[in-house]
Amino acid sequence: MRILIISDIHANFTALKTVLEMAGKFDAVWCLGDLVGYGPDPNACVETIRNLPGLACILGNHDAATLNHIDTNNFNPEARTAILWTQKELSEPNRAFLRSLPEKLELDGVTLAHGSPRHPVWEYLLDNRTARQSFDHFQTDYCLVGHTHLPVLYTLEDKNYPARLMVPEPNTDLILNPRAIINPGSVGQPRDRDPRAAFAIFDTQNAIWEYRRVAYDINDVQQRMAAAGLPDRHIARLAAGW
Ligand code: ZN
Repeated sequence: MRILIISDIHANFTALKTVLEMAGKFDAVWCLGDLVGYGPDPNACVETIRNLPGLACILGNHDAATLNHIDTNNFNPEARTAILWTQKELSEPNRAFLRSLPEKLELDGVTLAHGSPRHPVWEYLLDNRTARQSFDHFQTDYCLVGHTHLPVLYTLEDKNYPARLMVPEPNTDLILNPRAIINPGSVGQPRDRDPRAAFAIFDTQNAIWEYRRVAYDINDVQQRMAAAGLPDRHIARLAAGW
């Protein structure tokens, strides 16, 4: 199976559309959460994602806050502004879809969690010590995470040491060995100073992770954000990839 892996779309429909056009053939889609928040297109993004073939999708922290499942005061003021705007914009069917999402999923020998397998919605997996601890919280060969918006691969060669951290080169194919934790990066708001949309194709038969970056029309999204009155800092950061 060729599975399209997307995460942290953040209501950026231009980036999502570009990823879907550039992804080539895939049999299923796994989405690692944060469909909304920050961006100007929450309805277009949720509608598109919920109609993708073979979809498995989990809940992100911005999705949970949009549903008022977590207190919006836990977010910085600008992120909170974007969440409150999203709450007003989101249609009832799209809200119902977000409500239906689980926090964690296990399928085909893979665990999906937005933040980490230990605390799926909130924990940031940013270093090899946290990654080492995370390996104790899933049983499958692989765990896919999002949340940090940073593409990274963690492997555990020896239980007595921290996990190994590897940042893959854009547009390369990695051969995976069990066990590993992998982050595909963010479709709609990359934070590794590469503004291109990030995603991956996971070839489950051959255990190959095809990590991809694609350029999209950032200006187009920025204009819609400005028209919606979304925070200037969020508009600016898209172009610089942080
Ligand atoms: Zn996110």
